Amino acid sequence: MKKDKEMVYPGSFLSTEEEFVPGKNAYSDEEGNVTSTTVGEKDLDMETREANVINKTKIVKPLDVGSTVIARVSLVKDNSAMVEILSAEKDGEERKVLKAYASIPVSSISTEYVKSVKDMFRVGDFVRARVAKVVPWGIDLDTRDREMGVIKAYCIECRKPMKMFDGSLKCPNCGASSPRKVSADYSQ
Ligand SMILES: [Zn+2]
Repeated sequence: MKKDKEMVYPGSFLSTEEEFVPGKNAYSDEEGNVTSTTVGEKDLDMETREANVINKTKIVKPLDVGSTVIARVSLVKDNSAMVEILSAEKDGEERKVLKAYASIPVSSISTEYVKSVKDMFRVGDFVRARVAKVVPWGIDLDTRDREMGVIKAYCIECRKPMKMFDGSLKCPNCGASSPRKVSADYSQ
């Protein structure tokens, strides 16, 4: 049977109730007409006798508490690190980044005592972090979990990417080492 590929809009007539029952993105009104609730492709299923509207628009929800972000450190302060969020996801789904800048408060960096934020993050590092708080004036991130933290660090002396050697970060170029709050998934 020929597939009906007609585009429909909210309120578009799809079928009468006698022919098809409302399926996805459809409802029936008082007069027994099955009507679309969205923009999409009309799909009349001959087997289930359902009138559906296939919505192909990918809806991306905004980032919220519990989302995981990839961010780049832009400023290291005494009591926090400021980062620029590059991407966000939750349960494997992409999340929209509305405000690009976020903060990692010193108390949310590590489960261990943090003497200086500079021992945890440096400007230019890439970090993975969890969204802990979303308020109108900003986003707070948390990197205490073992898979959270720096996933790529750059040498503060020569700017080359650093590598893990026996559990600590060293620059393969100049030999400098500097501590970080490293993620368990540090990318070599
Ligand atoms: Zn170096």
